[in-house]
Amino acid sequence: MRKTIIAGNWKMYKTIKEAIELSNGLKRELFKLDNQDIDVVLCPPFTALSEVYEVITESNIMLGAQNLYWLDEGAFTGEVSGKMLKEAGCNFVIIGHSERRQFFGETNESVNKKIKAALANELTPILCCGETLKEREAGKTFDVLKDHAQNGLAGISKEGILKIVIAYEPVWAIGTGKTATSVQAQEAHKFIRDLLAKLYDQEVAGQVRIQYGGSVKPENITELMQQPDVDGALVGGASLQVASFTDIVKKAAEVLK
Ligand code: PEP
Repeated sequence: MRKTIIAGNWKMYKTIKEAIELSNGLKRELFKLDNQDIDVVLCPPFTALSEVYEVITESNIMLGAQNLYWLDEGAFTGEVSGKMLKEAGCNFVIIGHSERRQFFGETNESVNKKIKAALANELTPILCCGETLKEREAGKTFDVLKDHAQNGLAGISKEGILKIVIAYEPVWAIGTGKTATSVQAQEAHKFIRDLLAKLYDQEVAGQVRIQYGGSVKPENITELMQQPDVDGALVGGASLQVASFTDIVKKAAEVLK
């Protein structure tokens, strides 16, 4: 049985003050819910990690970062290491988000190094993969997923992959209001799961969690979560408000009943 995981990617939103306010609101609302069956993860900007950690400590919410560098320390101006994230209270880290691939030159090679660094620092990597609209229209969706997953996971052992979460995030659905239909999401998730069976084995394919990301909202979470290979969601825009993110977690929990 794979545990559902709902993560909020706050991107470059929320000052420290706003982040404290949002996480306090979420803690209050999610505390009321019986969400023992769901991992809820907040991924604020680096500047707010420690403060959000202070708020959510002793709650059922966990902390994640949005990126890391693959070395523990050194002369790498502007970078933050896995060791530093762990110390700040993180358990998760998003790696290879399409915005990082698109705007910051992230490649499968850097993604792979970051995944290894995350695992070495006992952080759960959330490996993002997904196609652009052009790639989907050219019939290359599965080729892209294979490229992102296979190369991102190069050299990762069975023990390692079992600690990783994969996020299928079609680029055309991120921040656009367009959601993949539940059929499109299920098809992509099934493809990734079958690929894991080929790269590793059936046990791995059966255990690794695959989240969907791309304009997830309270209105579409139920149908997405009803798909057999969808194990949760990576939420951007709708994670920035207490009401919408709480609703998403609540509706995901209802599907599990
Ligand atoms: C994301 O940031 O990973 C994301 C899926 O964003 P949104 O939910 O806003 O599309």
